[in-house]
Amino acid sequence: MIRIEEIVQKVGRHHPQADLDMLRRAYFFSAREHKGQTRASGEPYLVHPLEVANILADMRLDEISVATGLLHDVVEDTLVELSVIKQYFGEEVAHLVDGLTKIAQISSLSREEQQAENVRKMLLAMIDDVRVVLVKLADRLHNMRTLGALKPEKRQRIAQETLDIFAPIAHRLGMGKLRGELEDLAFQNLYPEDYRYLSAQLEARRAEHEKFLERTTKRIEDALRDAEVPFVRIEGRVKRLYSIWKKLKKQRIELDQVYDLVAVRIITPDEVRHCYAALGVMHNTWRPVPGRIKDWIATPRDNLYRSLHTSVIGSEGQPFEVQIRTEDMHHVAEEGVAAHWKYKEGKIGKHGKREMVADDEDAAFQSLRSLVEWTQEVKDSRDFIESLKLDLYPKDVYAFTPMGKVIQLPRGATPIDFAYAIHSEVGDTCTGARINTRIVPLRSVLQNGDVVEILTSANSRPSRDWLNFIVTSRARTRVRHWVAEQQRAESVEIGRKLLDKEAVRFGLSARKLYKDEDFKKLSGEYGFGRIDDLLAAIGYGKLVPRNVLAKHVGAEKLAEIEARKESRLRSGVREGVQAVKKFIRLGDDAISVRGIDDVLIVRGRCCNPIRGDEIIGYITRGKGVVVHARRCKNVDSLMANRERIVEVEWASHAADTTAYAVKLLAVTENRTGMLAGITSAISDTKTGIRDARASISANDKGHIEVTVEVFDLKHLDKIIRSVRGVSGVLDVERMNGGAD
Ligand code: MN
Repeated sequence: MIRIEEIVQKVGRHHPQADLDMLRRAYFFSAREHKGQTRASGEPYLVHPLEVANILADMRLDEISVATGLLHDVVEDTLVELSVIKQYFGEEVAHLVDGLTKIAQISSLSREEQQAENVRKMLLAMIDDVRVVLVKLADRLHNMRTLGALKPEKRQRIAQETLDIFAPIAHRLGMGKLRGELEDLAFQNLYPEDYRYLSAQLEARRAEHEKFLERTTKRIEDALRDAEVPFVRIEGRVKRLYSIWKKLKKQRIELDQVYDLVAVRIITPDEVRHCYAALGVMHNTWRPVPGRIKDWIATPRDNLYRSLHTSVIGSEGQPFEVQIRTEDMHHVAEEGVAAHWKYKEGKIGKHGKREMVADDEDAAFQSLRSLVEWTQEVKDSRDFIESLKLDLYPKDVYAFTPMGKVIQLPRGATPIDFAYAIHSEVGDTCTGARINTRIVPLRSVLQNGDVVEILTSANSRPSRDWLNFIVTSRARTRVRHWVAEQQRAESVEIGRKLLDKEAVRFGLSARKLYKDEDFKKLSGEYGFGRIDDLLAAIGYGKLVPRNVLAKHVGAEKLAEIEARKESRLRSGVREGVQAVKKFIRLGDDAISVRGIDDVLIVRGRCCNPIRGDEIIGYITRGKGVVVHARRCKNVDSLMANRERIVEVEWASHAADTTAYAVKLLAVTENRTGMLAGITSAISDTKTGIRDARASISANDKGHIEVTVEVFDLKHLDKIIRSVRGVSGVLDVERMNGGAD
């Protein structure tokens, strides 16, 4: 078992200012808390945090990261609370340990393979400090190295997760070496047969490969010296098992057909021109394979990888790959983000600012890129730590279904957006939501890692209000579509009623009309494909029913019918109009629309008309006919759409006994007993009182508001007169709007 003092010394070497005593304290704390726990191998549990800390120390990370390595499983696996960590080791360590605990919870939640991409992003989105990922990767690396002690199923699961989630994260962070080791370990555990077969085959070729690499390396050294191109060293290697295996699978070839099994790497001093010079020498020595030259120096990869690649045909006719890069590019290629700790110490930064090409739009790597640029200049370690704060996916939020599926949404997304992301049916019938088992309003904003459960009901439909807070275009499109459908259906209905009545007025049968081929053609002439579209246009008030009929039967014929009717009316025959005067009741409303039955009628809330008030009707888009009092302040502006105004009249008294709530305001002298006096005066008129309240105004007058139940205007006049008669009452008025 590695000793803590070795780790302490490593950290001290790279970070002379570090608080090394904190590492010793973290060690003792971890030892005490994990006491008695063992790993699957039977070793004391403490081996694991120690090894993780050692990996982090080898990455040259700071003492905060290494201490986090020692403590990373304490909150997850023992009874220790985060607040204790904070108290003993400070805010930063506690923050990193917290991040690791969250990651542990997420990766245990999600199992779906195809979700890997989203899980990766979610992990990265949930952490705000790159050191959390680095500790997590070190943790995973040690677990992978010691996987052998576990049962096969568990081994498989962890290996698969490593391949799906953690190796790609290491790759995106540019950590080539760590990624390679994770992949090979995962490969070994997932496909043990293939692994054994492939390593045996490579072992059999080892001597041959070594001889080839020795010869080639020598030849390169000579060629570079002859050309006076400086280099630091030449490395020869056989490619990683997992990457060879992937190639065999993907291209369906045998090992002998893999021509870049071995590769050579030229490391030059830290100046880009040496790389290009070395490339020239290579192409001068051997014939390059066309199309295999890649310049990752001029255009670095997303993960900041920089190098020149070429393949050449060797002296014995065997092609091989050559990678050329400077020492610092090499370091970044191997260590990725972790390499920046080295830059921080100024070992590489002295060669001046590197030229980075900002050709990639990905915000995540803009952020990494700026990290690299930052660290060239930053001297103060406080600023350096600040620069590690990440917001890799500032535009996204990741939430789970109860089954552990990850849903990616834009920031600000609500449960409705989530519901539509699952399925449009789920969105259409959504009635409520639980976030982390608690019922929440539908306009709540989702956070990373939320588990969201959508409640649905088959009869429920989207609400127009949702448009005020949903953010995804998918949800928006669906809800808009639904609202439009709804409005259209109502408009068709209103249009049909209007046209029916107009037809009856002229003695035509509406039913026959709809079957009439000529009438269908008429729809076409108006530019509508279907009769329903024509009816909708009438319902929306774009077309006047009389004009439509006139166009169908001919204006002259219509006028003739009308004239005949007039004369019959005058002669006392009152059919027709009478037939129209059927009264309709809807809710507590009793208003007939001249010419229309069964239309949705709503009394305007703005003016609260009651029987006896002069009224007009206004055909709205999708909400039926709204009835306003003529005195209503909104009527003027409605008149601008004259074609939508319809005549309405009150139903006869006999047919209806609806009472309307009307609010009255009485201004009185400020003295006691006013409220009692007024309410008793109202009771004298045999009127119901729904609500009464009194207050004193700023100018020392009594204000008494009473909501009364009124049958009609005459009734209201009587009430007002009665209240006026009460001694002390200065004025009474009817207030606009209904009682609420
Ligand atoms: Mn661990």
